Amino acid sequence: MKYCYECGTALEERFLEHEGMIPYCTKCGCYRFPIFSTAVSMITLNPACDKILLIQQYGRDSNILVAGYVNKGESAEETVVREVREEIGLEVKAAAFNKSEYFAKSNTLMLNFACIVESESLEGLNRQEVDKAAWYSFEEAKSAIRPQSLAEKFLLHFLEKSVKRFSFDY
Ligand SMILES: [Zn+2]
Repeated sequence: MKYCYECGTALEERFLEHEGMIPYCTKCGCYRFPIFSTAVSMITLNPACDKILLIQQYGRDSNILVAGYVNKGESAEETVVREVREEIGLEVKAAAFNKSEYFAKSNTLMLNFACIVESESLEGLNRQEVDKAAWYSFEEAKSAIRPQSLAEKFLLHFLEKSVKRFSFDY
C-alpha cells in the first residue's frame, strides 16, 4: 500500500512499538495496516465422520471445498454455518479450525475449518452456485481433490495432522 486509502496521501514508514515499521498517513494521523479479504473453506464431514463433501463450481470439472468470503461484522465461525447452509442446504452441527493460508492471487486470507453436517442429503443443493457435489471416502477425496490447490493442502493437513486430535466445539 503506497497511498492512504482514506485521503490518498503518500504513506511513510513509521516505527510502531511491538509491530515494527508500518505505513503511516501524516494527514489522518493513522497507521495503515495491510488490507486483505478473509474467506473460509470447509472440510465438510458427514455425520459418521467418514466421508468428505467435494464440490464443482463455475463450470470447472475440478473438485474443491465449499468456501465463501467472510462478511463485515461476521465471525469466521458464522460464515462456515452460513456458507454450508447457502451452498449445500445443510446445517452445521459442529466445526473446528484446521489451517490457514494466504492466497496472493485474490489477496485473501483463507481460514480452513472442518465441520460436521446434520445429514448426507444433497437435495437442498444450491444449483445456481454449485454445479455438482458428492461424498468421498477420505482416501477417495485425496485423489479426487484438485491437485496443487489450496484445498488439497488443507485436506492433506486435516487427514495427516488434525483428524486424530480434532475436537468439535460448537
Ligand atoms: Zn490519510
